[in-house]
Amino acid sequence: MSLTRRSFFRYCTLSAAVLGLDALKLRLLDEALANPAAPSVIWLNGSSCTGCSVSFLNRISDVPGQPTDVVDVVGNAINLVFHPTIMSAAGETAISALKQAYNKGGYVLVLEGAVPTAFDGHACVVWKYAGQDVTYQQAVQELTARALVTICVGTCASFGGIPASGSNPTGAMGVHQFTGRPTINISGCPANPDWVVWAVVQLLLGNPIPLDADGRPVALYSTNYDGSPDVPVIHNKCPRNPNFTGTPLALNFGEDGHCLQNLGCRGPFTKARCKAAWNGIGGVYPPGAHPGHWCVGVNAPCQGCVEKTFPGADPFHEPYTL
Ligand code: SF4
Ligand code: SF4
Repeated sequence: MSLTRRSFFRYCTLSAAVLGLDALKLRLLDEALANPAAPSVIWLNGSSCTGCSVSFLNRISDVPGQPTDVVDVVGNAINLVFHPTIMSAAGETAISALKQAYNKGGYVLVLEGAVPTAFDGHACVVWKYAGQDVTYQQAVQELTARALVTICVGTCASFGGIPASGSNPTGAMGVHQFTGRPTINISGCPANPDWVVWAVVQLLLGNPIPLDADGRPVALYSTNYDGSPDVPVIHNKCPRNPNFTGTPLALNFGEDGHCLQNLGCRGPFTKARCKAAWNGIGGVYPPGAHPGHWCVGVNAPCQGCVEKTFPGADPFHEPYTL
């Protein structure tokens, strides 16, 4: 492990604009990171593809001048006691560390993945302890009860997402729907890694996180980067329709500059700031990067992956109506 709390702090400093950190907040964050009594973090995966974890890994590793290894970041910057994908401990040793944090209470619980409720939860078994299978359903029910706060990373944990779609027989659903307890939903398929870091930073700073009706931080999903509260749907900031003057509609994929509405774009009702968020920290491109690292920027329609309605029953690439 080569990175430290210092490196995490440096990452936050470089990302200050997108993380909403001014000089005072950075100083407070510096103090919070130095606090050995900062809460532990438990990260648990349920019905998911682990894409949110992978996105988080990739995001931090591809920008020059920033931390290169998220394992180091989460292992050293925060007290991560459990993450099934990246922790080195295994078996009952790993579960014992988790149980210690659970008994103490007051941890930050990060959940990635929907909760399967059919088959008594046995579509997703997260570990075996003392000879007994423990389902994700049981783990979520118990761990959310003693958490300081629960962060749902990705649309699966937030709303059910792909595991809850179609005729999946597992009865998958989002964490809030399953437990009835409050959650901070960082939706997205995958969740934007900067937004996940943003939520962790706000918690470390002890800042309140106002949420919209779907449990998503207003600051990320319902305001623009300049703080103005106008309607931040993808469509309103789309470079393919800069003045809403009737950009020609694309008939096929690969037509640069043409509107993708006829190819299934859900931008007109999707609330997120993806154009800036996926293009590099704060919307600033790393040197040499392709200036369009977001769905519409690379000629793909927005699929509305941050919304409760994702993925829905309609084919992705046909015109979409609410
Ligand atoms: S490509 Fe999508 S977001 Fe952009 S103008 Fe067309 S419908 Fe709106
Ligand atoms: S542009 Fe649409 S589909 Fe792409 S990440 Fe943003 S909300 Fe999801």
